[in-house]
Amino acid sequence: MPNPDAMTVAPIVSLAGQAPAEPALATILRAASFAARVHATHRRKGAAAEPYVNHVLEVAEILAAAGAPPAAIVAGLLHDTVEDSDADPVPTTLADLDAAFGAEVAGIVAEVSDDKSLPKEVRKGLQIRHAAGASEAAKQVKLADKIANLRTMRSSPPIGWDHARRLEYVGWAGRVAAGAKGVNPALDVLFDETYRHAVTRLAEEA
Ligand code: ZN
Repeated sequence: MPNPDAMTVAPIVSLAGQAPAEPALATILRAASFAARVHATHRRKGAAAEPYVNHVLEVAEILAAAGAPPAAIVAGLLHDTVEDSDADPVPTTLADLDAAFGAEVAGIVAEVSDDKSLPKEVRKGLQIRHAAGASEAAKQVKLADKIANLRTMRSSPPIGWDHARRLEYVGWAGRVAAGAKGVNPALDVLFDETYRHAVTRLAEEA
């Protein structure tokens, strides 16, 4: 597993047009700040209506704790900025991410973003099919995202989601995760634990 301590000294991917390379920690905090601004008006769907940025910080925290590379952590912070700002007055684009964080990070975010022009059920099917062919960084972001979402399904499920809908969601997350595993053993273990908890909890409710 990569050494998490290395992140405090190792420069991240060299950013287009910016030299010398920015220290990884500075890039990570810049991404957190960027995400907080993009998601300033966004809330989670759950009863707690948490600020959306809580979700992306949790995803990044999961990635960092599992020793994921800095580019994956940065992409974890930014993973919903394009998809979830499409209805905002000034949507965030992949080109914006490319300009601010470089092509590698923008590419990872592109891999984990749904095409909002497609119907929801089609998008969900595509996530299952695309996971196995994704880059290693995108697979780790996907797994961390599903771990965070499964936790939220327990702590603050979306309003109006009945038992059957939550069960369907957990099963779908498991199918996406199946294609994203095999890169980072710590994430694989954490996903399996979180998935088992979610299934057990739903079985107890039934
Ligand atoms: Zn997410």
